Amino acid sequence: MVDYTKRFLVAIIMAICVFFIIIGGRAQAQEINIHTATKNWVFPANGIISDVYNTRGGTHKGLDIAGKFRSNIYSVDDGQVEKSYRSTSYGNVVFIKHPNGLETVYAHLNKRLVRVGQVVKKGQLIGYMGNTGDSTGNHLHFEVHNGEWTFDKKNAINPFTVFGKGTTGEMVVAKNHDPYELMEVSGKSQAQ
Ligand SMILES: [Zn+2]
Repeated sequence: MVDYTKRFLVAIIMAICVFFIIIGGRAQAQEINIHTATKNWVFPANGIISDVYNTRGGTHKGLDIAGKFRSNIYSVDDGQVEKSYRSTSYGNVVFIKHPNGLETVYAHLNKRLVRVGQVVKKGQLIGYMGNTGDSTGNHLHFEVHNGEWTFDKKNAINPFTVFGKGTTGEMVVAKNHDPYELMEVSGKSQAQ
């Protein structure tokens, strides 16, 4: 009887281990998937990082880029326009769904240049930077969602996961996958 109980316990422990190995493997696979899925993305705007992800008590689920009024906003990847409208909070906003299941959001635009259902290419001009909606200065509020956008933004991920880590006050360059690296390279080539 005791032997049977021991075997039973061993079997349970092994089952638990297998369960965590599978779950762990899945979590890792998903992480790698985001990097692979976004490795060719380009940065959506020129400007200076004015706020980062998860600030304001964890409620700010995007990256803020302050640039020139009416400067160009680009789609980060190929996709299809899911929504294009004016809301009280986001102002003029464009939502783009990408073939890999990710969704990006471009808010507070001065003007939207794309309509719902329109197919867009990576780096395509989709609007101009502005200060519409719940915004206190000319900037782009940019969000990345691993899955579809929802009201509670549960699928939101840090845009730095895609573009590498930056900081508030740092200059960023549009249409490059690594918006900071390019500044360093141009600085070096100027020094030569
Ligand atoms: Zn923002």
